[in-house]
Amino acid sequence: MCKIIAIANQKGGVGKTTTTGNLGIGLASAGKKVLLIDADAQGSLTASLGYEEPDAMEYTLATILGKIINEEEFDIQEGILHHEEGVDLMPSNIELSGLEVSLVNVMSREMVLKEYLEQIKDQYDYCLIDCMPSLGMVTVNAFAAADSVLIPVQAAYLPAKGLEQLIKTIRKVKRQINPHLEIEGILMTMVDERTNYAREIMRLLTEGYGGQIHFFKNNIPLSVRAAETSAMGISIYEHDPKGKVADAYRELTEEILSDMKGGVAV
Ligand code: ATP
Ligand code: MG
Repeated sequence: MCKIIAIANQKGGVGKTTTTGNLGIGLASAGKKVLLIDADAQGSLTASLGYEEPDAMEYTLATILGKIINEEEFDIQEGILHHEEGVDLMPSNIELSGLEVSLVNVMSREMVLKEYLEQIKDQYDYCLIDCMPSLGMVTVNAFAAADSVLIPVQAAYLPAKGLEQLIKTIRKVKRQINPHLEIEGILMTMVDERTNYAREIMRLLTEGYGGQIHFFKNNIPLSVRAAETSAMGISIYEHDPKGKVADAYRELTEEILSDMKGGVAV
């Protein structure tokens, strides 16, 4: 049984890509078979795993989804990259933004990514989808295909408004397209331990959503070490194995593996 988790927040720069990469590699180190899907035309996940020029790539998610839309045959392994830290990656590049526009006129346009994942998921224990910072068609495709959504929230500002809209979209997809969809939890990222922001924001969020939404027990601390990995093609476990961010992502991995929340309804 493969668990599909979309990592999403339409707010930019909150740690979606960093979380997808490091959670994925954490799960792979625990012996799980992991497929990462870069569902962002910026190709940040692809680049952060060391594939330097996503835009020069021939086979990407856009290629595959295009073939599904056009009902062309393709090899299910096509385009999948094998990273040395044990995860597989379906990369993305700028072509995904063209595909997003063309999706609007496609029949079952919300289900294209699901159709792909249905064919490949048996080969994996976990599939993590790194969503782009928008709630457009590709992100809706990710919600339609996923079992749950993990929401990284940056601890430096009050995200209430944006979060409200994100949760509304998730509920709508659950109602109309994917009744199994759950919220995996809210993950506080880039937490600066020198300030009380994180605690204050978490207090406000739990006041608003506590009981409805799971909050991950551990936060991801702010650290220049984490920022450095984006340009290096390696995980935080390789770059700074003893650091606090590596520890935090190890704990998040444990929490996902133990699946303690036991399915909170959206
Ligand atoms: P986008 O919305 O553009 O896709 P994102 O939500 O995927 O952004 P990331 O790319 O993961 O966010 O992170 C944004 C920036 O913050 C990156 O430069 C990343 O290296 C940095 N960053 C991520 N996590 C941390 C952290 N714990 N401490 C410090 N910097 C971090
Ligand atoms: Mg990103």
